[in-house]
Amino acid sequence: MHEQMNLLKELQEIDQEISTIEKSQQGYRQELDSFGVESARVQAMLDELSAELAVLQKDEAQLQQDLLRERDNIARVEGRLPEIQTQKEYVAVLKEIDMAKKANKDLDEQLLAKLQEISSLEEDLQEKEAELAGINEKAEARTAEINELLAESDTALEKRKETRESVTKDLPTALLRKYQTLFKRRGGLALALASNGACLGCNMQLPPQQFNSLLRETEMQTCPHCNRLLYVEQG
Ligand SMILES: [Zn+2]
Repeated sequence: MHEQMNLLKELQEIDQEISTIEKSQQGYRQELDSFGVESARVQAMLDELSAELAVLQKDEAQLQQDLLRERDNIARVEGRLPEIQTQKEYVAVLKEIDMAKKANKDLDEQLLAKLQEISSLEEDLQEKEAELAGINEKAEARTAEINELLAESDTALEKRKETRESVTKDLPTALLRKYQTLFKRRGGLALALASNGACLGCNMQLPPQQFNSLLRETEMQTCPHCNRLLYVEQG
């Protein structure tokens, strides 16, 4: 019983280490996932800005076209001036030219506003592109670090599992199974020290008879309250 308890203590220590390593690996993997999420978030913003820019550029092309047509229009109407015969006709053509020039000016203003919008959007786009590049660069560097850490902890884990194997092979199957169930259910603490008549796993008093037989170390005992496997301080 003494021998088995020592093996169980060793096993619990190994299992706690394994669980710590596995938790840190989980953390590393979550960090890796978070890079993808962050990068995708900024990429989505970039896509949105690019789509907006495409719309603005289409508007701009349309305005340029309208402007060309309006200029042609002015030239065409002005070309008619030398052939004018009457004062009435002359006034009408001048009015037409005036209206065309106003339309032209209006289009010019619209185009200018559109170009400013485009330039401001392009600045936003560049900013986001820089942000994305920064995120990706950082993620790349940290990913390399994390992969190294994961590889290191994989090696550590492998070693622990080998040691675990050598410890468990000397333990009876039923006892091992009981220990494993307790380890899972009792937050990684399957064994409890019994001291001054109490179980230190749950801090409850043990029946005096049980505590006495525990001191004699005759058989494996479990706490009637928390079910943990009990041991006493030796020596
Ligand atoms: Zn207990």
